[in-house]
Amino acid sequence: MERVHDLHTHSSASDGTQTPAELVEAAAAAGVHCLALTDHDTVAGLEEARQAARAHGLDFVPGAEFSASWARGTVHVLGLGLDPDHGRIRTATRRLAGLRRARAERIALKLERAGMPGMLSAAQALASGEERIGRSHFARALAAAGHVRSPAEAFRRLLGRGRPAAVASEWPPLDEIVDGIRAAGGVAVLAHPLRYRLTRSKLLRLLEDFRAAQGGALEVVTGRATPGEIRSLAGHARRFGLSASAGSDYHGAGTPWLVPGRLAPLPPDLRPVWEAGGLTA
Ligand code: AMP
Ligand code: MN
Ligand code: MN
Ligand code: MN
Repeated sequence: MERVHDLHTHSSASDGTQTPAELVEAAAAAGVHCLALTDHDTVAGLEEARQAARAHGLDFVPGAEFSASWARGTVHVLGLGLDPDHGRIRTATRRLAGLRRARAERIALKLERAGMPGMLSAAQALASGEERIGRSHFARALAAAGHVRSPAEAFRRLLGRGRPAAVASEWPPLDEIVDGIRAAGGVAVLAHPLRYRLTRSKLLRLLEDFRAAQGGALEVVTGRATPGEIRSLAGHARRFGLSASAGSDYHGAGTPWLVPGRLAPLPPDLRPVWEAGGLTA
């Protein structure tokens, strides 16, 4: 039988709704054999997840989803199989925490100017630490306060690109993030490449830069990818000689249509990122 891999998930250590142990339990119940926890810009949930994975007999891949700057925009890079205690990871997560804290203050200020005060403490109360605060926590806080009907509406009306509370953040550059992941023994995977809304030529430039920085894989299969999107990403992986990864981007029980491990198969000629070995801890 095919082993089920899910190499992109979130816990309450970043913007997921389940604790790392609850997430592992949900993944085990859904039939996942090999799971990566990839919280945004933090490795804080990995130890708890590792222990829960051992208890459930799951193979565990320690990871993180890093925010990186490229061409004045934000891209996400998964580091899979990294050593969370490595100095480069400690430095990167500390720096990203500071950037998140500063961004949160600017978001809250913009919301206040738009007539929605008190959102910093409300969002903070939903995050597991002020340095882990993200836009999802603001989205949930805005919905809870009745300013919007749903977190999705908060992104659409307030927090998304070009909206009143959007804040451009200067994350560390893409090549520096990729280099830090590799130094810590991990593989760098470009997450959801079609979600950055880049033109085809700009996407090709991103893939070229990612490859040049020694990025290792593309996330070819995601939770809601269409067959056409998978075909297109598979073509890019072949063209750039990159391995392929698969991950649901599960954030918890709030999105019942997204289940850990329920993913389309990778096109058979691609090299799965987990096949090179060395990812599981
Ligand atoms: P941040 O890293 O704090 O900028 O937040 C990014 C996260 O926000 C993503 O990982 C998603 O979990 C969430 N997100 C982004 N866009 C949307 C959207 N349109 N609707 C719901 N959640 C979103
Ligand atoms: Mn998220
Ligand atoms: Mn992402
Ligand atoms: Mn994610």
